[in-house]
Amino acid sequence: MSKVVKFGGSSLADAEQFKKVADIIHADPERVYVVPSAPGKRFKDDTKVTDLLYQCYERTITGEDFAKAFAPVRERYDEIIKDLNLDISLDDEFVKIGQDFRNGANRDYAASRGEYLNGILLANYLGYEFVDAAKGIFFDHKGNFDADITNACLGAILEKTPKAVIPGFYGALPDGTIKTFSRGGSDFTGSVVAKAVGASLYENWTDVSGFLVADPRIVENPAGIEVITYSELRELSYMGAGVLHEDAIFPVRSANIPINIKNTNAPEDAGTLIVPTADNDTKYLITGIAGKKDFSVISIEKDRMNSEKGFMRRMLQVLENHEVFPEHMPTGIDTVSVVVNTKELGKGEEREKLVRRLKDVLRPDHFEIIDGLALIAVVGRGMRAKKGTATRVFAALSHADINIRMIDQGSSELNIIVGIDEKDFEKAIKVIYDMFILSEQ
Ligand code: ADP
Ligand code: ASP
Ligand code: MG
Repeated sequence: MSKVVKFGGSSLADAEQFKKVADIIHADPERVYVVPSAPGKRFKDDTKVTDLLYQCYERTITGEDFAKAFAPVRERYDEIIKDLNLDISLDDEFVKIGQDFRNGANRDYAASRGEYLNGILLANYLGYEFVDAAKGIFFDHKGNFDADITNACLGAILEKTPKAVIPGFYGALPDGTIKTFSRGGSDFTGSVVAKAVGASLYENWTDVSGFLVADPRIVENPAGIEVITYSELRELSYMGAGVLHEDAIFPVRSANIPINIKNTNAPEDAGTLIVPTADNDTKYLITGIAGKKDFSVISIEKDRMNSEKGFMRRMLQVLENHEVFPEHMPTGIDTVSVVVNTKELGKGEEREKLVRRLKDVLRPDHFEIIDGLALIAVVGRGMRAKKGTATRVFAALSHADINIRMIDQGSSELNIIVGIDEKDFEKAIKVIYDMFILSEQ
């Protein structure tokens, strides 16, 4: 049986972290497929190599000399090589990257070099084989991840490679051009590799001891989650719980492979186990709280809206034509509020065009767009079995004098979503946490 182990940026930020990673890998002979991220932050205000690479790309396309723009990236790798005493040089790779930049390589290519170079170093350090993700992870000509081809090709390569390092975050388009997943995408690569090799477990090593009930940057020392289902995790990661990329569960879910989130800096901690199904009899009524800012509400009022044939269809059509995709759509008899990502509304003229089109097509009595909305999801399989979750969420918010602008509960009873003013975001998460976790401890 093999395990796939993915290490995030902070787990591989410098030589000290590389040593911890090697100790973890060598402690279990089943840890044979390793997916690294690019070196992340070494301290709070440090810059991740991926961000350095994006900066380097912007600087070179505006005419700056590559060597100068690339110097901060180069330093990071050279320092790791020196501190680990590795018998390897990346100089030829740096030259090749410079040539590729000059030949017009794209922004994704630039970003992908973070994982690529780190993969080469880690493979060398572990004595594992380096397998370039561009050789086994593929996108179709539209730029969508191609699960079938990837699974077949990567599976075939790794079948012949008993111990390999496969860099995270990128793959190749049919013509060989490099393309990355969205930010945090190495989690997705780990999941893809786990499926391709039929792993018994996908271990995702990061800088926290598993999934916590709330974001530790908001709630001080939050309780940990021992077991969480794929569906709960999906809700939480979609709503901004940053631990795992929101798509990372799909490949392993289809293959029934559990994910274990573990802490590189505290490897003995059990972490969080992510499983297909679990008992509803949970320790706390809720499993987790997460949230995101930067939403807007398009609020539309029109008398007898609900009896006007095709009203919703026409509204959705206009939104779709403008590439605006509703997140939530609570309705009243004569009102509808459409919650969307603010950035999808565009700015200036683009936004005005959308507003004009909606008004022309719908002829509302009242129309308004309110920006500055934050959404908070309270998620838990346990709430199906017990009553009163919503009441307690509302009570917590109302005691804290937080105005609720929107409420939505999925029919699966797995989550309750509330929309509040952005300025109340952190406070809202804290009071909900206190209500469900602190008061039960
Ligand atoms: P990596 O670089 O290892 O991929 P990430 O930074 O992507 O790590 O994810 C781990 C971070 O996610 C934690 O350091 C923490 O700040 C943040 N985070 C946000 N929400 C949660 C949560 N609910 N539980 C644990 N960590 C969370
Ligand atoms: N290095 C990439 C990022 O910073 C991918 C990852 O870390 O998963 O987004
Ligand atoms: Mg991450």
